[in-house]
Amino acid sequence: MRTQLFKNYIGGQWVSAESVSTNRNPSNINDIVGEFSQADLGQTKAAIQAARDAFPAWAMFPMQERSNILARASAEILARKDELGQLLAREEGKTLPEAIGEVARAGQIFGFFAGEVLRMAGEKLPSVRAGVDVEITREPLGVIGIITPWNFPIAIPAWKIAPALAYGNTVVFKPAELVPASAWALVDILVRAGLPAGVLNLVMGRGSVVGEEIVTSREVDGVSFTGSVATGQSIAAKVVARMGKVQLEMGGKNPLVITDDADLDVAVECAIQGSYFSTGQRCTASSRLIVTPGIHDRFVQAMQARLSAVKVGDALATGTDIGPVVDQNQLETDLSYINIGVEEGARLLHGGERLQRQHDGFYLSPALFVDADNTMRIAREEIFGPVAAVIRANDYEHALELANDTQFGLCAGIVTTSLKLATHFKRHAQAGMVMVNLATAGVDYHVPFGGRKGSSYGPREQGRYAAEFYTTVKTAYVNA
Ligand code: ADP
Repeated sequence: MRTQLFKNYIGGQWVSAESVSTNRNPSNINDIVGEFSQADLGQTKAAIQAARDAFPAWAMFPMQERSNILARASAEILARKDELGQLLAREEGKTLPEAIGEVARAGQIFGFFAGEVLRMAGEKLPSVRAGVDVEITREPLGVIGIITPWNFPIAIPAWKIAPALAYGNTVVFKPAELVPASAWALVDILVRAGLPAGVLNLVMGRGSVVGEEIVTSREVDGVSFTGSVATGQSIAAKVVARMGKVQLEMGGKNPLVITDDADLDVAVECAIQGSYFSTGQRCTASSRLIVTPGIHDRFVQAMQARLSAVKVGDALATGTDIGPVVDQNQLETDLSYINIGVEEGARLLHGGERLQRQHDGFYLSPALFVDADNTMRIAREEIFGPVAAVIRANDYEHALELANDTQFGLCAGIVTTSLKLATHFKRHAQAGMVMVNLATAGVDYHVPFGGRKGSSYGPREQGRYAAEFYTTVKTAYVNA
C-alpha cells in the first residue's frame, strides 16, 4: 500500500514541500501513519503573510457565520470521534478510550467557542466628565502563532485555535513533529467547515525552522505555546524582545498529597490515574506522591498490588491500560531518570523496565519509587513518563511544605476526608489548579487552565478566560 502524503495548508491551498517526515506508530514502529510535508522558511513566511492578509476581513466577518463555522467543525469532530481517536492513538500511543475522549474534548471545545462568539460583551460606564460615555470593548489581537506539543495532538490545538478564531484572529498553526496527523485532520475539518482562505494556515515542520520564524516574525502579534520549559523560556524571550504577546504552558512536577484520614481506594485510584494513565505524558500528571505516616505503608502496598494488574500494551488493543511511550527519545529519557532515581538512593518498588510486546514499540512498565526525597532529581525535574515517587512526610503541614517546594505550580492534589485539611490545602497550595479527592490530571474545558511559577506564563487558557490572551481591550470615550 502506498503511504499517503499530507500537505500543508497555506493561504487557502494545500501545498507540498521538498522534504517530508514519516509519522510512525509508537505501538508498532513498522506501521507508518503517513508522510507529512515539512514546511520550509519560505512557506512559513507565506503562511504568516496569508494570515496577515486575511485578518481585516475575518475580524469583521459576520458573527453568526463565524459561530456557524465553529459549530460545524464541532459537529464533525464529535461525529467522527471513533475514527479520529483511532488515528490519534495510532500516532501518539495513548489508549483508544483515552484518544476517543480527547477527540470528543476537542469537539466540545469548538462547541463552547461557537457559543462564545455570540457572547462578546463589553462594558459601558459614565465618564467622570459630564456628558461623556465610556465604552470598553474587546478586539481581536491579529495574527496568532500556535505552537503545540505531542502529548495532546488534537485537544491542545483545539483549545488554542478555537478561541483564536472565535475572537476574530487569524492563525498560523505549527503542530509537534511527532503528531501531525491529528493536526492535519483538524485543519481539514475546519477548512471544510467554511473558513475563508488565509484565516487558518497549517505549517508542519521543525521547531528550529517553522517555530523559530513564527516566534521572531513581527507579523505575528501573539504566540501561544505549550511544550517544554527550555523551549518556552527561549520563545518568551524572543517574543517579548519584539513586543509581541505571549502565552506559555510548560511543565509540572505535580504533587498528590495523601493524608492519614484518606480513603485508601480513592488515594490509589487518584495516584494510578494521575501518575500513569496517558503513559504519564501529561503536564498535569502527579509525579510526587506525598504521603503522611499513618497511611504510608498501606498506600504503598495497595499501589504495588494495583500496579501489578495494570496492562501495558498496544494503544489500539482492547484491555490496554497504558500505551507505549511516544518515541525512542522519550523512552531513553524515562529510563535514564529511572537510573538516576536508583543512584540517588530511592527504592524502585515496581516497574521501570522496557517491555517487549507483539510488535516492536516503546513499551515501559510503570515505575514506582518509594523512600524518595523531595531534593532528588526525580522529585524536582519533569520526567514526562510513567514514573512516580512516594515521598514520606512527617504530617500534613510537612506534606504541604513539600508539595509547594518545587519550581513548578500547575496542579496540586490532596486525598483526604477532612474538610479542614481540604480547605486549608485549597487555600495554600501554590498552583494554578487544585484537586480534592481527584487525580491531578483530568480537567474541564469550560474553565481556566494554567499554572503558577515555572509552569505557565501569561494569561490563562480555556473557557471565558481565553479572551484575555486572544483579544486586546479598547476604551472609547464618546461626547454625545
Ligand atoms: P516536547 O518535549 O513536547 O517536544 P518542545 O518544547 O521541544 O517540547 O516542543 C513543543 C513545540 O515547540 C513543538 O511543536 C516543537 O516543534 C516546538 N519548538 C521546538 N523548538 C522550538 C523553537 N526553537 N522555536 C519555536 N518552536 C519550537
